[in-house]
Amino acid sequence: MFGVQDISPDLLKKYDRPGPRYTSYPTAPVWKTDFTAENYRDAIERANRSTPAKPLSLYFHIPFCEELCYFCGCSTIISRDKAKSADYIEILGQEIAFLGSLVPRERRVVQLHLGGGTPSNLTPVQNRIFFNHVNRAFSVDYQKGEISIEIDPRHATDEYLESIRSLGVNRISMGVQDFDPVVQKAVNRIQTYGMTRKVFEKCRELGFHSINIDLIYGLPFQTVEGFGKTLDQVVELSPDRLAVFNYAHVPWLKKHMVLIREGDLPKPETKFDLMMLIGERLTGAGYVYIGMDHFAKPQDELTLAQKNKTLYRNFQGYTTKAQADLIGMGVTAISMVGDVYAQNVKSLADYQTRVSEGRLPTHRGYRLSKDDILRRSIITRIMCDLEIDRRHALDPYGEEFDRYFASEVKELEAFASDGLIEITPDVITLTPLGRVFMRNIAMVFDQYLKAVPRGPLFSRTL
Ligand code: SF4
Repeated sequence: MFGVQDISPDLLKKYDRPGPRYTSYPTAPVWKTDFTAENYRDAIERANRSTPAKPLSLYFHIPFCEELCYFCGCSTIISRDKAKSADYIEILGQEIAFLGSLVPRERRVVQLHLGGGTPSNLTPVQNRIFFNHVNRAFSVDYQKGEISIEIDPRHATDEYLESIRSLGVNRISMGVQDFDPVVQKAVNRIQTYGMTRKVFEKCRELGFHSINIDLIYGLPFQTVEGFGKTLDQVVELSPDRLAVFNYAHVPWLKKHMVLIREGDLPKPETKFDLMMLIGERLTGAGYVYIGMDHFAKPQDELTLAQKNKTLYRNFQGYTTKAQADLIGMGVTAISMVGDVYAQNVKSLADYQTRVSEGRLPTHRGYRLSKDDILRRSIITRIMCDLEIDRRHALDPYGEEFDRYFASEVKELEAFASDGLIEITPDVITLTPLGRVFMRNIAMVFDQYLKAVPRGPLFSRTL
């Protein structure tokens, strides 16, 4: 990244505090449960009136996993029963048909993603049924669109990979986390380099356009030496993108995380060293640091979008499809349509009941105010451009950055004194140290943090 050689223990302590990851602003704890399915439907209808027709990004949540990884922060249901996923695909098909009936066919799907859970636990037959549902309801651009899926290399067979490729999937994201057997045992995820390499090579052979690998740092027993080996092995595979997530230990939100002993987690100083190692190893291997734990090859669309300042961030991480409305389907799925966020119910039973009654399974949501939209735009620029253009950042909203955010600019002076940013009359730029603590810088623009207690809601920023 990073070019940061060292950090004083005091500074580390000062900035290593709870804070959001900003896949949305305002963050989910601020959303309201009196936001209804009708409110969401109105947002879709408003968006349908845009000209030219706004493209769509679709997200489908497939919650089933065969076993529980103790670090998991996702919404999962542990089950090996394929009949359950068959039932789920049937009910998901009804939600797909319902939402498809709400949007005109000229709204083309330019991005489609299956996440989870473990979407690769679906059988080839279930995959076919699922894609039939989607193709009947939406107009998917399989030629130019990004059609992606998260796979678990422990269970992805050749037959499975061939089936999704033939159905039009062109991008793969695979979970690895860490190859160190001691770490794998502590997090209940045994996945050898050999099995991962075999799946990776099969994906290359099948011609998937882009392959992403997910790693996690901050897991129990991780060391700089051990994680260095994992990074070397992953670099050898040469994925197009890498997401190296910071493990968020939040047992008050995810109860199973108590299975990870706090005393086995790396200390903040080791985590900082791990971050530095990741930055050095990956940029040394030719990857470009995109921001918030993401790296990509220099010719990747994410890298080019960052250069052109057209990169955006949503619930799936970084994206180049800022203009698309995101419609999420499946239990817990989140949507972002125009100035509205909406989330589906969290319980599978509720989801099944509401969808089978012909209702949208909306559980909560939020309509952004103008102030929210301005703040969201600045947080997005921090996360995506690693700078704020003081002259033009608020031009699209008819406001001046220095006037609107006068008190925030004042607050940022302390960050400049600590070496996290550089402030000139034209631009506020994150320094290498500021990139490590970009969440803290973004938090200055989050007006809800003053109202929402920081305590147990968010993970630590380091
Ligand atoms: S496979 Fe993925 S979603 Fe499932 S438990 Fe493990 S980390 Fe969570």
